[in-house]
Amino acid sequence: MFYFDRGLFLTRNRLAVDVRRRQRRGFISHAHADHVASHATILCSLPTAELVRERFGYGPVQAIPWGQTVTCDGVELQLFPAGHILGSAMLLANDDSESLLYTGDFQLEPSLTCEPVEVPQADILVMECTFGDPRYRFPSKRDVYEQLIASVSDAISWGRTPVVHAYALGKSQEVARVLTNAGITVLEHSLIHALSQIYAKHGFPTGGALLPEAGAPSGVCVIAPPRSQKAVAVKTSDLPFRIAVTGWALDPNARVRLRVDRAFPLSDHADFDELMRAVEVVGPRRVYTTHGPASFSDHLRRAGIDATPLEKTHTGR
Ligand SMILES: [Zn+2]
Repeated sequence: MFYFDRGLFLTRNRLAVDVRRRQRRGFISHAHADHVASHATILCSLPTAELVRERFGYGPVQAIPWGQTVTCDGVELQLFPAGHILGSAMLLANDDSESLLYTGDFQLEPSLTCEPVEVPQADILVMECTFGDPRYRFPSKRDVYEQLIASVSDAISWGRTPVVHAYALGKSQEVARVLTNAGITVLEHSLIHALSQIYAKHGFPTGGALLPEAGAPSGVCVIAPPRSQKAVAVKTSDLPFRIAVTGWALDPNARVRLRVDRAFPLSDHADFDELMRAVEVVGPRRVYTTHGPASFSDHLRRAGIDATPLEKTHTGR
């Protein structure tokens, strides 16, 4: 059904799946840089096609609408929303003998700014496991949203300018929607705002406006990329109060490492319990794990599931 050659390939049609180097034909699960390459032909969802074009300028693209089955050299392909960021897709492939589900990055808990996840059943499951360690159990989004709104509101009341640092694609749009829903005026860094406009086009407006070059006035919240990203300067009239939003906020010393005043564990990935639950929903005969700790396979095996890290198996074709 598949082979591994520094990345996942479907055997019958040689379709590269989130492979990081240019291929004749490649599926891109979503528009985060660690899943994208300039394949000669790209298969992906319609929103991902637009996000990839905006961020990387890649094409040509064969966009597959949700719920539609396309046949690609004898393999039926279908996309299902992965609940990670706008356009993020799971790929279900069926070659008559068996079915394979590749999750890409995914999340079961609904987000305000992307299509709700749909998890189909499959014989073989290839899954991301970014937070595949029991120490990663996220609080509910509702709780984190409330804490974030309170922290931003407090900063404004202290005469500070809250600057929320978040990944430009996905997390920033979610945070902007959370805060604008709470009546807070949000200004988005230009890198973020360009992507938010694609969100709006697909039915997920963030409610944020473009941060002017002159900078942010008093009384507003700014959303900017992470501090680790170079060349991202934000001008504010008041002293910034820096907030990070990332699943890695659960790590010790996250606030110091991220160089912020507060850090909240808002993630767009499945946490440990959601990863385990996803396997139950798919009901596969065999699981291959990727994009995360190899030890996650051990947890699955202890739960009676046949699991192996993808990178350790099916090398070559
Ligand atoms: Zn991602």
